Amino acid sequence: TPPVERYEYQAEVSRLMDLIVNSLYSNKEVFLRELVSNASDALDKLRFLSVTEPELLKDAVDLDIRIQTDKDNGIITITDSGIGMTRQDLVDCLGTIAQSGTAKFLKALKDSKDAGGDSNLIGQFGVGFYSAFLVSDRVVVSTKSPKSDKQYVWEGEANTSSYTIREETDPEKLIPRGTCLTLYLKRDDKGFAHPERIQKLVKNYSQFVSFPIYTWQEKGFTKEVEVDEDPSEVRKDEQDEKTEKKKKTKTVVEKYWDWELTNETQPIWLRNPKEVTTEEYNEFYKKTFNEYLEPLASSHFTTEGEVEFRSILYVPSISSTSKDDIVNPKTKNIRLYVKRVFISDDFDGELFPRYLSFVKGVVDSNDLPLNVSREILQESRIVRIMRKRLVRKAFDMILGISMSENREDYEKFWDNFGKYLKLGCIEDRENHKRIAPLLRFFSSQSEEDMISLDEYIENMIPEQKDIFYIAADSVKSAKNTPFLERLHEKKIEVLYLVDPIDEVAIQNLKSYKEKNFVDATKEDLDLGDKNEEKEKEMKQEFAQTCDFIKKHLGDKVASVQISNRLRSSPCVVVTGKFGWSANMERLMKSQTV
Ligand code: ADP
Ligand code: MG
Repeated sequence: TPPVERYEYQAEVSRLMDLIVNSLYSNKEVFLRELVSNASDALDKLRFLSVTEPELLKDAVDLDIRIQTDKDNGIITITDSGIGMTRQDLVDCLGTIAQSGTAKFLKALKDSKDAGGDSNLIGQFGVGFYSAFLVSDRVVVSTKSPKSDKQYVWEGEANTSSYTIREETDPEKLIPRGTCLTLYLKRDDKGFAHPERIQKLVKNYSQFVSFPIYTWQEKGFTKEVEVDEDPSEVRKDEQDEKTEKKKKTKTVVEKYWDWELTNETQPIWLRNPKEVTTEEYNEFYKKTFNEYLEPLASSHFTTEGEVEFRSILYVPSISSTSKDDIVNPKTKNIRLYVKRVFISDDFDGELFPRYLSFVKGVVDSNDLPLNVSREILQESRIVRIMRKRLVRKAFDMILGISMSENREDYEKFWDNFGKYLKLGCIEDRENHKRIAPLLRFFSSQSEEDMISLDEYIENMIPEQKDIFYIAADSVKSAKNTPFLERLHEKKIEVLYLVDPIDEVAIQNLKSYKEKNFVDATKEDLDLGDKNEEKEKEMKQEFAQTCDFIKKHLGDKVASVQISNRLRSSPCVVVTGKFGWSANMERLMKSQTV
């Protein structure tokens, strides 16, 4: 017999296993969700690869997931006919942590102070494969990759720091392809091996898995069976008549076991939006994107005509991406399907501009080839059209939030994703019209609640032509600057741009509804009340004073001029009409953009 080889877990795995076995007690049932989702991933991978390598399907087994329970012995087996694992895969995948979901969990755990109070983190993130040890003493994974001619068995036990791998030799256990996971349940968790319990969990946790999931269920049917008549009951007269012995029938219940389809496999995006409830959309979102909070908004739509595709888009309720992700998103936000086959979640950059990378969703197209690659996507006219529509829908969805009765919704959105939209001002000229109405700023007349540009315009005084702004590092310093004295006096509202990116965004927009954005600190402010005669007089009167001051300051200033912008302050230092504003200079120096 081939040898059994023993391997040590990577340190992180050991720590995770220890945590799972010894401190996570609540919400154990999520193990099923994790293992079924792995099975589904494995089927997705096989289906995707078989597009270009059809021979992978040569052992023509159906693509499905089968869960069998043995309640007497407390055993659950989960079998999928997916991509399976080679020996090396087993070492790489089940002995180390390089995986998204699990890594996310560990990070969240690190970020939160006490590990003890975080057993519900497991429900939020999942711990992937290792969640099998939430309920099992021993886990056996027998797996056959179509790339290998051998089937291997991985075996691990709770509370050990090592696992073994050997070749499968039991002919009864050989499978054509895929993975068979056997869980030997802990004494207290044997209840999970009840067929009805498993069926309920599958319905609860796996309703959006797009492969059929069968569970092994006991069934019964009724049957009429013939029974011989008991001679003692036969009536005398009948006997007398000497009729043929009559047959009597009886109804019995015949029991048998069989596979039962337990989930609904039609993808939610194929359904009629009118028939899908908000709860279903939210559930789908949480399951698909491994999120635990409800999304802020969703949008389900079909486009027809030139290019046909279906999509559901979501705006999350909090930002899960870091600052780096804005600039270089590797966020796997958009899951691309072609004719319902999952292709990749790595193409989001092609389907969405990077500044919209916070939007999550699924996109299913009938017009792309199944073997679509990044290169194809980049050059495809179809994708350009799709991208345009998706972006438009995303903006509609965001606009919807901004018009919601509940003002808090949009405040929440802005808090989390405002930065992204400002980046959009810089990167996506074409969509300025859609982005601008969504922007929010503090202003001289609204220091606590942000206002929209439309609100600003409504608030303009009759002779005002421009939209004024001042960039500063806080509302407080914007408010106290002497530049604004005259604007304040005339009751002209001034936007306070307090986020470093604000000013660049505004400068990229240039104007909104035909009103130019004007920096209130620049010289030559036109407040619609110019009196040229008077200005000329003043200039002459103070020409000598200005010369005197300029002489004293020398190169420190470009010029010294008479201005009508101030009221109570005697003088102010401003930047030239064509120069950078003080804020921009600060920004360029710190290179934060
Ligand atoms: P994740 O699913 O986030 O990658 P898991 O811990 O759930 O992390 O799984 C680890 C890896 O093990 C998977 O990425 C996959 O490569 C492999 N794996 C797990 N279950 C299966 C399976 N049923 N078939 C094939 N590969 C699997
Ligand atoms: Mg997983």
